[in-house]
Amino acid sequence: MDDISAQIKARLAHMVDQDNFRTWIEPISSITYSDGTIMLSVPNAFFRDWVVQNFEVLIRASVFEMTQADARVQYVVGKHETRPAIKSAAVRKQILPGLFNPRYVFETFVVGASNQFANAACLAVSHNPGKVYNPLFIYGGVGLGKTHLLNAIGNFLLSHGPVDPNRISFTTAEEFTNELINSLRYEKMDDFRNRYRKMDVLLIDDIQFIAGKERTQAEFFHTFNALYDNTKQIVVTSDKFPRDIVNFEERLRSRFEWGLIADIQPPDLETKVAILNKKAELENVSLPQDVAFYLASNVEHNVRVLEGSLVRVGAFASLHNVSITMELAKEVMGHIIKDKKREITVDAIIKEVALHFAIKTSDMKSDRRIKSIMLPRQVAIYLSRKLTDNSLVGIGEKFGGKDHATVIHSVKKIEEEMKVKKELKETVEKLERKIKST
Ligand code: ADP
Ligand code: MG
Repeated sequence: MDDISAQIKARLAHMVDQDNFRTWIEPISSITYSDGTIMLSVPNAFFRDWVVQNFEVLIRASVFEMTQADARVQYVVGKHETRPAIKSAAVRKQILPGLFNPRYVFETFVVGASNQFANAACLAVSHNPGKVYNPLFIYGGVGLGKTHLLNAIGNFLLSHGPVDPNRISFTTAEEFTNELINSLRYEKMDDFRNRYRKMDVLLIDDIQFIAGKERTQAEFFHTFNALYDNTKQIVVTSDKFPRDIVNFEERLRSRFEWGLIADIQPPDLETKVAILNKKAELENVSLPQDVAFYLASNVEHNVRVLEGSLVRVGAFASLHNVSITMELAKEVMGHIIKDKKREITVDAIIKEVALHFAIKTSDMKSDRRIKSIMLPRQVAIYLSRKLTDNSLVGIGEKFGGKDHATVIHSVKKIEEEMKVKKELKETVEKLERKIKST
């Protein structure tokens, strides 16, 4: 199996573009495969994280093509072997059955105003399963830490709790559904029911997945009741508030409202910086604070993407054997951040400005020359010039076919007025921030 390295690399060469191949695949110094384990030697921890996030699935897929067997991936970082970098629940289940992701614990979860409540609720439940908040329903947008907290409860119970590990069930709603389908197919429904109903703690990730699936909802409903009646702890996560999940049975909704509903909001700037610092600390690299602020203020609210940006910068720094600096961060992240800027459209600006001044968007595009309409129109034109790459003519067209002289005039006018009118300046700046952040 010595040439497996070459074989896998050859396969990957067709799957990823050249730049990525040179930066991330070539430096993998060796790839070995035996007993269902792929061992990759990579230069450092950031490099490993980047490969895990971006290429691990492809690597496993190419090994699967060659061996017809599903393999797990382990990494040797520098000279040291590390434990497998475990990511999704599905991957985790295959390689370490019954265990929670060891990285997702309360100690590594950064608490800020946006997630304080959810964090406190999860801690309370971990200390007193079944006794305090039951069911606990955690909801929040993508990448804000729901899966992390759910794992943290599991890890806590395993290491502190009086709970029998065999009586903790941790699954995604998708896996729950698949298991149900298989049990129906092989006439094993009794086993399915008994297995879930003897649990002391039931943790289900992404419950919104069962929306619209009648049979799964019915089965979940009965499982829920059986556990709830015996004061067993139930914790579910969702990307939406119960009332906002479409095609979700009313009786399930109301069950979730019996307990505690805790939301996770997008983190504010300070929390984002703290998350980056924590991650850098765990990875044992020094992260200058200007870089932390740069990443935190330019990357979206999704924490997964935020972490990804640090991994990217860190990986590049260690590949080139330099430390992380502002210059490097800008070089690595520059094009991604600029891409984001380009997404701002004239239409979005028109909408936002019209909303602020309470006028119709059609008035923005009209020729009406009353002040209450002209000023907002000029502000929108000014912002379009500043925040988009559209030409003067292109902007004019979006405003109902104005010529480029009108566009220039509007831009100048607002620039001049902002110098003397503090209130207008503040309004324009506020709008600019608003538009950039949506
Ligand atoms: P969700 O399940 O809500 O989509 P995850 O729990 O998968 O999000 O979180 C995405 C990534 O962000 C994970 O790597 C997680 O560890 C990290 N993360 C999210 N919130 C925090 C936080 N407050 N502190 C530390 N890491 C966090
Ligand atoms: Mg999740």
